[in-house]
Amino acid sequence: MTTSVQRLTVLGATGSIGMSTLDVAERHPDRFEIFALTAHRQIDALFEQCLRFSPRFAVLGDDNAAGLLRSRLREAGSSVEVLAGSRALAEVAEHPEVDVVMAAIVGAAGLQPALAAARAGKKVLLANKEALVLSGRLFMDAVAASGALLLPIDSEHNAVFQALPADYRRDPDACGVRRILLTASGGPFRSAKLAELDAVTPEQACAHPNWVMGRKISVDSATMMNKGLEVIEAHWLFGAPAERIDVVVHPQSVIHSMVEYADGSVLAQLGNPDMRTPIAHALAWPERIEAGVRSLDLFEIARLTFERPDFERFPCLALAYRALREGGAAAAVLNAANEEAVAAFLDRGLAFRRIADVIAATLERAHGLSVDSLDEVLATDERAREIAREEIRNCR
Ligand code: NAD
Ligand code: MG
Repeated sequence: MTTSVQRLTVLGATGSIGMSTLDVAERHPDRFEIFALTAHRQIDALFEQCLRFSPRFAVLGDDNAAGLLRSRLREAGSSVEVLAGSRALAEVAEHPEVDVVMAAIVGAAGLQPALAAARAGKKVLLANKEALVLSGRLFMDAVAASGALLLPIDSEHNAVFQALPADYRRDPDACGVRRILLTASGGPFRSAKLAELDAVTPEQACAHPNWVMGRKISVDSATMMNKGLEVIEAHWLFGAPAERIDVVVHPQSVIHSMVEYADGSVLAQLGNPDMRTPIAHALAWPERIEAGVRSLDLFEIARLTFERPDFERFPCLALAYRALREGGAAAAVLNAANEEAVAAFLDRGLAFRRIADVIAATLERAHGLSVDSLDEVLATDERAREIAREEIRNCR
């Protein structure tokens, strides 16, 4: 098949997913051209990326940072145009010359540019799971209305996508799908004693056994809220209700997820835990390209094991299922409270085990909120954060 060059915007280019995306794209200069790169505050990293990839645009969080980057790039003889702020993020996501948008900003901050890409009908590679948790219906409606192509980057969802029929249309029954089985590594505290969790530090929480990731998602993996957010993400991506999405703890992270069919078949996608696999899969879909990932050595792995998730040790997982079943604004509230609690934990202002308490209390207190429009989503996010911050202060 002949391919034309695809112009790519990477939102969150300096993060873990952003860098892996550029690593894959750089292996295929005949297929991908970098149109825009964005970062929040990492001027040095974005400067290096601008010299290496010569994008048309670079976007930073504020004018100050943008000014610094602009003058450094001029000095280096680069003609990259530097923009700032959230409006600029949306502009480089929806720009008419862009074909593909990698949505890899962490947290609710990534929603608006990801939604802009979806509304503009782009090929959207979605790593930013929080966008779907916050505004699943709005986001999926935007994709349907514009005809955007939405491809999941989260390794579990990418695995499920690969195990589903090519013509799957968000209806499990129409394709004989019985269950979606999301695998979870169990994070660094899978077998720690409950009492030991009281004194967990940010460094311990961020030391994931199998994956190297940004700090927020690393803490989410340690509380298993990451899997909770992924259950909600799977609901929106694949149209499956909570009772058809099961979590299976699989500490080796070799099976990235599975789909069970009505006839008893279970299809799995396997591979080394390296995000370049799902990224390359989505970048090239429906073709396959080299990702720089080494072959899976099954003899070295030798055995794959499975455990039931422990909802007592990981109350965040139970809270996420509860929010999904409740519907309405509950998932958005859960996400906002989690982001605030995780930020406080990383700042050493909240104990690890209180993260779940803050989220539970915020869910109890948040009433009368809705998520039917972008304005409502943003207002709900803000209100839930206010409540969560009060709860965090009460924990001190
Ligand atoms: P990261 O912290 O390494 O990088 C985040 C990126 O977003 C950086 O480029 C940062 O500059 C930018 N950013 C942060 N705050 C911002 C703001 N307020 N406005 C604009 N830009 C901002 O995170 P990551 O690990 O790469 O994760 C990115 C997303 O991908 C998250 O939603 C995460 O859940 C998801 N994800 C990550 C992995 C992984 O292996 N890292 C796997 C699956 C899904
Ligand atoms: Mg994942």
